[in-house]
Amino acid sequence: MSSEIVKVAELIASSRGNVVLFTGAGISTESGIPDFRGPKGLWKRISPEIFSIEFFQEDPDFSWKKYLEEVYVPISRASPNSAHYAVAKLEAGGLVKGVITQNIDRLHQKAGSRNVIELHGRFDEVQCLRCSFRGDLKKFVEEVKKSEKAPRCPRCSSILKPAVVYFGEPLPEKELLDALSMARSSSLLIIIGTSLAVYPAALIPQEAIRTGAKAVVINDSPTPIDGKAELVVRRKAGEILPEVAKMLVVEKNEETA
Ligand code: NAD
Ligand code: ZN
Repeated sequence: MSSEIVKVAELIASSRGNVVLFTGAGISTESGIPDFRGPKGLWKRISPEIFSIEFFQEDPDFSWKKYLEEVYVPISRASPNSAHYAVAKLEAGGLVKGVITQNIDRLHQKAGSRNVIELHGRFDEVQCLRCSFRGDLKKFVEEVKKSEKAPRCPRCSSILKPAVVYFGEPLPEKELLDALSMARSSSLLIIIGTSLAVYPAALIPQEAIRTGAKAVVINDSPTPIDGKAELVVRRKAGEILPEVAKMLVVEKNEETA
């Protein structure tokens, strides 16, 4: 057992359930979904502009085509990996109170996590930019593929957009406030698989630290918060989290036996 795994487990155990996880695209790369900025990231192939609201509004038809190819189809095929399952196990065991995620892929929920705050929306829904309509994206996919046109709102006929936060759009207010309050009240924040380059989401770990939480970073490359962390583990999430969960959940069962 590596000493890093033991240290992460000890920090979680001594925080008595008051632990919050903050995740990014890196927790899902082991499920085959590329991140943005990692070595095999999406930005190596396409320009970040494609996922900006300005670009969407200028050319919604092309933007939809790219969204289906680069986001919807690959994510629809993906399944949770051992890191997502470990996160869910820690929550079920009462060791973690919730997950704040920047991911849109729903893999935390698919793995069984219950208290998940999605800061950037979800990949499988659409939203109308004019009225309040929200719906299941699946119903529109075939039509978009066939017509090569952006889908229209069934209520007001305006153009529908994927229900994910594009660059240049504000974060959903309730989620942002809930995330800030969960982060501020935590004793330990574990940051997993994020470059902390996307704002305002990246303010959340800073705010947790400012209000007294200890931070652990599990990321395979450096992050801007490493200097303020109690512990930095520069490894893959899937190599660390399952071992941590195995240690803690077994220990807990033994204690109660
Ligand atoms: P990012 O691409 O900026 O950073 C990912 C980080 O994770 C990198 O530092 C990388 O080195 C690290 N990493 C990659 N694989 C890892 C692994 N297996 N274990 C540990 N670390 C690993 O991603 P971000 O910070 O989440 O920001 C990108 C934004 O794009 C997010 O806000 C998110 O909304 C969106 N996004 C989501 C998904 C998804 O839902 N799966 C995928 C791509 C992008
Ligand atoms: Zn509408």
